[in-house]
Amino acid sequence: MGKVTGFLEIEREEPRYEPASDRIRHFGEFTVPMSEGRVVDQAARCMDCGIPFCHGDTGCPVNNQIPDWNDLVYNGDWEEAARNLHSTNNFPEFTGRICPAPCEEACTLNLEDTPVAIKTVEQAIADKAIRSGWIKPLLPKAKTGKSVAIVGSGPAGMAAAQQLARAGHDVHVYEREPKAGGLMRYGIPDFKMEKDHIDFRVSQMEAEGVTFHYGVNVGVNSPLTDLQQRHDAVLLAGGSEKPRDVDAEGTHFNGVHFAMPFLVQQNRRLGGEDVSEEIQLTAAGKHVVVVGGGDTASDCVGTSFRQGAIAVTQLDVRAQPPELENKLTNWPNWAVKMRTSSSRAEGAIREFAAGTMKIIGNAKGQSRALNAPASIASANPLPGLSLLSRRTRSCWPSASPIRSTMAC
Ligand code: SF4
Repeated sequence: MGKVTGFLEIEREEPRYEPASDRIRHFGEFTVPMSEGRVVDQAARCMDCGIPFCHGDTGCPVNNQIPDWNDLVYNGDWEEAARNLHSTNNFPEFTGRICPAPCEEACTLNLEDTPVAIKTVEQAIADKAIRSGWIKPLLPKAKTGKSVAIVGSGPAGMAAAQQLARAGHDVHVYEREPKAGGLMRYGIPDFKMEKDHIDFRVSQMEAEGVTFHYGVNVGVNSPLTDLQQRHDAVLLAGGSEKPRDVDAEGTHFNGVHFAMPFLVQQNRRLGGEDVSEEIQLTAAGKHVVVVGGGDTASDCVGTSFRQGAIAVTQLDVRAQPPELENKLTNWPNWAVKMRTSSSRAEGAIREFAAGTMKIIGNAKGQSRALNAPASIASANPLPGLSLLSRRTRSCWPSASPIRSTMAC
């Protein structure tokens, strides 16, 4: 285990962020990495539990061997920690940045509200391994002579491609977009994960024998039967992009957009792709209302601030959760409690129990206001942008009285 008395002596610590006033001026990552010594201190807090809940069913979805690499980091063997981490996780630098870390919720120390900073240690191991040149292409000992087509190069497609290539298969990834990564590249904002991390892994995979075919939209400009004829197996690893509309009047007005086109266009811009022919979706100079309370909504909030929104209001249909969960009834499961993402902390106004009932437009077809059953003080007549990022219809309230109207 880490230090036997580590959890008694060392406080939990997480990396700092650049101040909000600085970080909203750019789209890059804004976490200030912790020194190696401080990461070692965090790993030292791990108690190497007899039953490591961090690693079990309620914890890490990819079964990272968390107590093992905490111990290796504490003892200074970062290279072996990286090997161990990669034995369960193809891309720990991705998960170290964007995973919500159910492992920390499940950590035994979370019973005292101070879980081991598992995600911080994971990212530190992955970043050090890449910086140190320890991540090399892993070539199979023998080829199987079998060929596999993978449709989609999101995280699932990439991980499957890497594993199948290492098993000796001839792997071809078919991707509709001009670059690999799927939602990781086109949906996740750069301020959460810069895309050179994906480029690095694509290079590694190409060196391992994976062939990427870009601009191939299987089922649209390339029949699935072609792939079936050319390959021994076809793996469908595409994501779901179909948005779910808000069940409210007025979503047809100009200025109302779904979250994904908004996020994707900004990522294309930053990635140097030509978006000049598209309708420009930008929050610059606008009052923005984000409908939705999850991670996608949070990404829209952060992107809006960076584009230069005047103000951002986020409507969450759920009631405001408690600051803290009841550990004795909830642990080690994911807790419903007040969580404030870095994007929301950049100055978003949050409203809870706010179901969008109606979007109101003017004679020119421009959205002007939004009716929601929560008490919202803001009302500004400037034209704006509404971003719909709702994901679960089940949490939508039954018809609630409209108590206020806000400009959007
Ligand atoms: S549950 Fe927490 S303290 Fe226990 S092994 Fe996992 S990380 Fe370490």
